[in-house]
Amino acid sequence: MKYLITRSCGHQETVYIYGRSQDISRSLLLEKEKLCKACWQSQQEEMEKDIGLPELEGSPEQVKWAKRIRWDYIEEAENHLRPLGVRLQDLLGDENPEGDALRIKKLFLVTSAAWWIKNRYNDLRLMAILADL
Ligand SMILES: [Zn+2]
Repeated sequence: MKYLITRSCGHQETVYIYGRSQDISRSLLLEKEKLCKACWQSQQEEMEKDIGLPELEGSPEQVKWAKRIRWDYIEEAENHLRPLGVRLQDLLGDENPEGDALRIKKLFLVTSAAWWIKNRYNDLRLMAILADL
């Protein structure tokens, strides 16, 4: 079913949700807590700037797609780095990271949009190994 909802940012958006009525009301509540597509996009762009990620290279469509893929790995990388006491935004400027931190740094320095797209189904660990090759 099609629902017009108000997102947490105050913008309205149409969502499509199917299922049993109690599942639908739960999904609607979750959807209302999210930002609309445009606000989410600019929040991600801000985050990218804060971290200091390099610009991606490729056609405009490839870059757009690859950025979305890279965003998915940011949270995973931060969760991985937290126990090591490392923040992603510090890591990119760190001259001498070691072990996993070094691999994750190399991953986020990959600027080829085509590379991110080609490897998008790998988990963070494998991505970091591939980036190190
Ligand atoms: Zn919004």
